[in-house]
Amino acid sequence: MTKNHSGKVALVTGGNRGIGLETARQLAELGFTVLIGVRDLAKGEAAARTLDGKVVAIALDVAARDAAAHAAVEVERRFGRLDVLVNNAAIHYDPSARALKPDWTTIREAFETNVFGAWRVAVAFAPLLSTSGHGRLVNVSSEGGSLASMGAGAPAYSTSKATLNALTRILSAELRGSGVLVNSICPGWVATDMGGPGGRPVAQGAAGIVWAATLPDDGPTGGFFRDGKRLPW
Ligand code: NDP
Repeated sequence: MTKNHSGKVALVTGGNRGIGLETARQLAELGFTVLIGVRDLAKGEAAARTLDGKVVAIALDVAARDAAAHAAVEVERRFGRLDVLVNNAAIHYDPSARALKPDWTTIREAFETNVFGAWRVAVAFAPLLSTSGHGRLVNVSSEGGSLASMGAGAPAYSTSKATLNALTRILSAELRGSGVLVNSICPGWVATDMGGPGGRPVAQGAAGIVWAATLPDDGPTGGFFRDGKRLPW
């Protein structure tokens, strides 16, 4: 029987479409109160309506310097706790781009959102996650960030996801003993705006993230997984 998580609060960044919105839907189905962090509140509220208002949109542009700190204050004031944080928001997957023809603007933007964004959100919410006693921090990564299989192309995206994976290891170690489990999850190639047609269904991609968000207290931390199976770094 699926455990009911009612009373717990989850936040999914970049939750207004794609894998983030589906992750939010699945977490709400498990009983979580789900917040979707969005950079455009009107778009977020429209997305929440597609789930019959079962999730709540909050303003959180992860690329904006102070947004995470403000969002953490808002979440504590309105909801009083946070048990699950899914760092899902990301940009700039471009397989045709080349490291030898660097577009520095794109590379900086990718790091600002995919690395510093996730990092700032983790810092802002770590106190609430630690207070939960059973906190789960899921960094949505990609096999594109795996050094073991990295090849040509998508340099901004791949280096940012590899760095996100490093952050997973460090945060996992720094949060050890707090009850917070920190893992990187690859959703696989998924049919979204980023993944494009031909990928697997969004529900399947989100399921691996929900798995990491609902790990038991003796579950793994500091790992990299797809579909619940370990990936090489
Ligand atoms: P999409 O491009 O479909 O959606 C990205 C989401 O992130 C959108 O909701 C977007 O909001 C949001 N976002 C982007 N920048 C910001 C920001 N600064 N602040 C807040 N939200 C932001 O991506 P997917 O759903 O496909 O990807 C979700 C995650 O899965 C990403 O981390 C991605 O790297 C990872 N992934 C995806 C794969 C795939 O095949 N799809 C494969 C491997 C990993 P807005 O609508 O405002 O643009």
